[in-house]
Amino acid sequence: MTNGATSPRTDAKPVALITGGGTGLGRAIGAALAADGFNLVIASRSAEHLAAGAGELRGKGARVLEVPTDVRDPAQVDRLLEAVRKEYGRLDVLVNNAAGNFLAPAENITPNGWRAVVGIVLDGTFFCSRAALPLLRQSPTPSIVNIIASYAWMAGPGTAHSAAAKAGVLALTRTLAVEWAQYGVRVNAVAPGPVRTEGTDRQLWVSEEIVESVRRGVPLGRFGTPEEIAESVRFLASTRASYITGQVLAVDGGQWLGKGVMDLRGQAFPPDPKSP
Ligand code: NAP
Repeated sequence: MTNGATSPRTDAKPVALITGGGTGLGRAIGAALAADGFNLVIASRSAEHLAAGAGELRGKGARVLEVPTDVRDPAQVDRLLEAVRKEYGRLDVLVNNAAGNFLAPAENITPNGWRAVVGIVLDGTFFCSRAALPLLRQSPTPSIVNIIASYAWMAGPGTAHSAAAKAGVLALTRTLAVEWAQYGVRVNAVAPGPVRTEGTDRQLWVSEEIVESVRRGVPLGRFGTPEEIAESVRFLASTRASYITGQVLAVDGGQWLGKGVMDLRGQAFPPDPKSP
């Protein structure tokens, strides 16, 4: 109980909070967690995105709380977690999925553009994790899954702001995994490969040439689906992953391992000189 207000009820079902849960991968992650019996909280800036996402997720049988939130603002994030406490009285899983991104050579990224992307991805992940900890530590099976990208450890030409921010989130994932192990909180990351969503079609895969060159760079030869990414989050958030913490799972059709590997597929090899 706080400030003399009535105690929130504590739900029997586990609860997952997904930032950016109204669109794209966040919405698919919500659907996968709903299938595992989670009730949901989705948070992002646009009430329209949240309403559309919540409508679909309720259709999957989950209770859904929508909380308009800009994750760059720690006061709004605190209000978000207070709303979770009031509505459900518990939090079991936090998925830091919200992000912003745009294509630009590093020298053309303005300080405002830089701050916007780093603010959403890195600050937002830290603010949400920090504010969620008091509720998470009361869960019997708490975990955090951060959505990053393989350029967190590779290179992200054309997206220096996002690459730097995701690298920060990877370091935070590993650091919090160690610091918060004492509270039983597991912290992992998923690095999706290229997946076509409304957001990426608008901001990244902006021409058929880009789409084709990205596709060619994936050893499995195709873009991933939101459901394929969501399945990996569902696994890491579940008790099936109860001894996994501080790890990053690349779900990318082999994209990052294929980088820089000499591509000899389809080449005619000369006959072995020693063979008769
Ligand atoms: P998306 O649909 O554009 O998702 C981004 C979400 O973040 C939106 O729901 C957006 O909602 C929310 N958001 C943006 N700024 C916010 C803010 N300041 N506060 C709160 N929420 C905010 O794109 P997506 O492809 O599904 O991406 C989801 C995640 O996957 C991101 O972390 C992205 O970096 C990662 N990822 C995607 C790909 C891919 O190919 N799709 C590859 C690698 C990694 P509002 O507009 O309502 O705020």
